Amino acid sequence: MSAIVTGGSRGIGAATALALAEAGHDVALTCQHNLAQAEAVAQACRTKGVKALALQADVTDEQACTELIGQVTEKLGPVTILVNNAGINQDGLAMRMKLEQFESVVKTNLTGSFLMTRAVLPAMVKARRGRVINMTSVAGLHGNAGQANYSAAKAGIIGLTKSLAKEMAGRQITVNAIAPGFIETDMTQKLPEKLREQAKANIGLGRFGKPEDIAALAVFLASDQASYITGQVIEVSGGLRL
Ligand code: NAP
Repeated sequence: MSAIVTGGSRGIGAATALALAEAGHDVALTCQHNLAQAEAVAQACRTKGVKALALQADVTDEQACTELIGQVTEKLGPVTILVNNAGINQDGLAMRMKLEQFESVVKTNLTGSFLMTRAVLPAMVKARRGRVINMTSVAGLHGNAGQANYSAAKAGIIGLTKSLAKEMAGRQITVNAIAPGFIETDMTQKLPEKLREQAKANIGLGRFGKPEDIAALAVFLASDQASYITGQVIEVSGGLRL
């Protein structure tokens, strides 16, 4: 049995891969470009005493997703945990947003989650067990000015999560989503300082979260203790008011 974390080369995905390894799962983590960085995360996972693989696979590429599942199954055994974490943002006001800017964000976040899930489900159905954990966002729950593309993609992930949960419940496969608020990663590092300060002022706990705060919930949702939770969206935002 093994776990896949997409976008595991850095940020939330890297912390999640490590936390799954800590919990005893063999783990494959993927990236789009940063294979050396992904390999360093895999190496850190191996120090926890599990098998770990770093693989380059674009989640928007249908064939790459299928091949990835094949490779992981061959090297680590059937995949029973999938964390659809790979994501990008390309912010801007909708009025001036280029079609490409809209479509590429939807493609990576939403279509990528669909393609990876579709590729992994046959093995989960066969095993009659599976955990799919999708990374949405507070932007998908509440919307966010300057993120029409990202919010639409993340709201789409919520619909995907709830529909898949209904389709798969009879097979003992749970599908849930995590909605992080502002977490300290490359994605939020690139925000202008003024925006970061504004965001912080709206967070009840008064600080950005750490990737480990999200990873802890992913590990719980993947665990036996969470076997009766499906179709849910759980916000982890330190009490963010939007
Ligand atoms: P990040 O630090 O920017 O890392 C993004 C990861 O996704 C990298 O591993 C990247 O690989 C991978 N990736 C991007 N496009 C890909 C593609 N087409 N195929 C495969 N992998 C791809 O992001 P993060 O902040 O950790 O965010 C992780 C997830 O949480 C995302 O879905 C994001 O939308 C969501 N989220 C984040 C926050 C936040 O505050 N950080 C808040 C809400 C939701 P490379 O390293 O190869 O580029």
